[in-house]
Amino acid sequence: MSRIIFFIMLYLLYRAIKSWYLSNFSTDPEKVSGKKEGSREDSADLMIQDPYCKIYFPRREGVHLKADGRDLYFCSEKCKNGYLSTLK
Ligand SMILES: [Zn+2]
Repeated sequence: MSRIIFFIMLYLLYRAIKSWYLSNFSTDPEKVSGKKEGSREDSADLMIQDPYCKIYFPRREGVHLKADGRDLYFCSEKCKNGYLSTLK
């Protein structure tokens, strides 16, 4: 009988360690790098301007580019590539 209790304790310990591990190490790179204001998920529907063609579009539909530590969004891959060519 005590052996069953031992296994139950072991299982609960395993569950506790697993949940602790997940809460500490399962942070995705988006959350770690995006702690600045305005980069929260509720701003995903925000209208932002394409820095290349100056058009406005919802951020979540944009093409993401990380340049100089800044997050840039473009309306299309074409604009992203166009912007990149201006940097060179
Ligand atoms: Zn564009």
